[in-house]
Amino acid sequence: MEVRIWGARGSYPASGARFSEFGHHTPCVAVSEGDDLVVLDAGSGAAALGEYLRENPVRRVHLLLSHFHHDHLMGLPFLLFGAGEQAAISIHTALGSDVPLQTTIDTLFSAPFFPADPARLLGRVAFCAHPVGADFAVGDFAVRSAPLDHPGGSAAFRVSRGRTSVVYASDLEASLEPSTALVALALKTDLLIHDTMFTRQESEARRGWGHATFEAATALAHAASVGVLAGFHHNPLHDDEMLRARERDLAALCEGAFMAREGQVIRL
Ligand SMILES: [Zn+2]
Ligand SMILES: [Zn+2]
Repeated sequence: MEVRIWGARGSYPASGARFSEFGHHTPCVAVSEGDDLVVLDAGSGAAALGEYLRENPVRRVHLLLSHFHHDHLMGLPFLLFGAGEQAAISIHTALGSDVPLQTTIDTLFSAPFFPADPARLLGRVAFCAHPVGADFAVGDFAVRSAPLDHPGGSAAFRVSRGRTSVVYASDLEASLEPSTALVALALKTDLLIHDTMFTRQESEARRGWGHATFEAATALAHAASVGVLAGFHHNPLHDDEMLRARERDLAALCEGAFMAREGQVIRL
């Protein structure tokens, strides 16, 4: 299984040379094996993934959306354009919303918000809205989900194939005592990708904003005995120098942990 980080920044893309090491794009992580490409969120990094797929086509693209905030969706049309006509594409959520998934996506990517005709863009996409906390399958991968504490709701996903798994938990407010649901979801996973947007001081000043510290991420990593922890959803105000320093502090708390870098490939 290969995990590739296409975007690790949170809230909005960070521009400029001092953000080049950890990257500019907002959340998008691709998990691939065989004919399946599982895409976790479609932030601006999904546009770069779409360009990559023009040269490296795949048969099945399964997009799992944690929630609908702009930083997790802005790259969606460009992912679809890049995946091309030959790929079977499905979009999944586990938010249990009353509004049909296709209606939400259609609204975002039609006039006056987007120039393309949504029927042309989304006509061949299969929409799958799962209940909160649902388990489901995408191609040859199994997916488990768990609800997260985030304004408007969000979902974490455990994506596994055989005995190998990755857990994606972005956009959550988390304490040093992780919920039993999240510990169960992340139990003994090979890779935990977890929101580490705020420093402790920032999180105290921004309670209710729905983001986590690396101390909270570490608490979950330890409680669930995960293989390795990757910090994610980097604050767009934290430049490379600050993230390198935070990465050192994170690794001191949790052996082998690192801050995810755009373009990074992790083989499990
Ligand atoms: Zn976000
Ligand atoms: Zn969000």
